[in-house]
Amino acid sequence: MELRKDPITQSWVILEDGEAPKPAGAACPLCPGQESQCPQTLYAHPQGNPNWLVRVVPHLRPIYRIEGDAQRRGEGIYDKMRSIGAHEIVVEHPDHQRSLSRQSDENIAQVLRAFISRLQDLKKDRRFRYITVSRNQGILAGQDLEHPHSEITATPFIPRRVGYELRSAMRYFELKERCLLCDIARQELSQQTRVVEWNEPFLAFCPFAPRVPFETWVLSVTHHSSFEEDLNSWDSQLRLARLLGSVLRRLESVAPAYHLVLHTSPNVAAKFERSGIWQTLAEDYHWHFEILPVIPSKSKSYSLKEVYYNSLPPEAAAEELRKVSAQTEVQR
Ligand SMILES: [Zn+2]
Ligand SMILES: [Zn+2]
Ligand SMILES: [Zn+2]
Repeated sequence: MELRKDPITQSWVILEDGEAPKPAGAACPLCPGQESQCPQTLYAHPQGNPNWLVRVVPHLRPIYRIEGDAQRRGEGIYDKMRSIGAHEIVVEHPDHQRSLSRQSDENIAQVLRAFISRLQDLKKDRRFRYITVSRNQGILAGQDLEHPHSEITATPFIPRRVGYELRSAMRYFELKERCLLCDIARQELSQQTRVVEWNEPFLAFCPFAPRVPFETWVLSVTHHSSFEEDLNSWDSQLRLARLLGSVLRRLESVAPAYHLVLHTSPNVAAKFERSGIWQTLAEDYHWHFEILPVIPSKSKSYSLKEVYYNSLPPEAAAEELRKVSAQTEVQR
């Protein structure tokens, strides 16, 4: 596996020599009792207890490998490197059938804690410029293992969209000496038309220019660039868990699948980072979750991802999400 940089867009592309084979055997490798299929435990709650509620393990078919160096090299004008990084699975619950949205607030908060712990740990590795958490729910979203899980990836580069956000947030701050997402959150709260749900200090809203129908963002109205530093109390973890669970239940009642991604501050201690580049990061960047529902395509053929085409205005999407129930069959 190799990473190649598109010299025009500057984005890194993962090239794989044919897809890795799926592990043999019928049993789910993430279910309790199958720990020997992924024996290395990176995090568990409760720690050292065979009856774990949340467990983090290395991915069984990792896109990124943890060992060695990136071995950056050129080939004429092109750049490439080894696909070095970390690729982990957060097993969100022992129950194979219980997706995140149907878990108790307390368990969702424990999943958030696992994210925090892994982000903090991986940021100590100076080879990694960026660490993120993502979640694919449903076959349409490319969920590869049935068992409820999220993924954590650490990479030696900053993903392109996050790079755009970082530059844009920095420019806005230079101009106005204010954080862009703080301004957006304040305006959304006062206008209300795109707000889905509010549980102080956390806000869920449909963004002004959504890429897909029902795109929803979740953030704290109180400013912080780093998710893992901001969510430092059980109370805040539980509040966010409550809002996140509720928003996911709303989305699942209108869309069969979704992608969720956490955008938090990059690893400022990474090697090769130019000194001074992150001078205003703590003030200009603001962590958030982006949730992109996947709805079977009705889109126009010319969309081709060159320009996003979305037939549902966010004001109407938010109104519908406020109406649908968030109270479905949560099991304790
Ligand atoms: Zn399972
Ligand atoms: Zn902010
Ligand atoms: Zn973002």
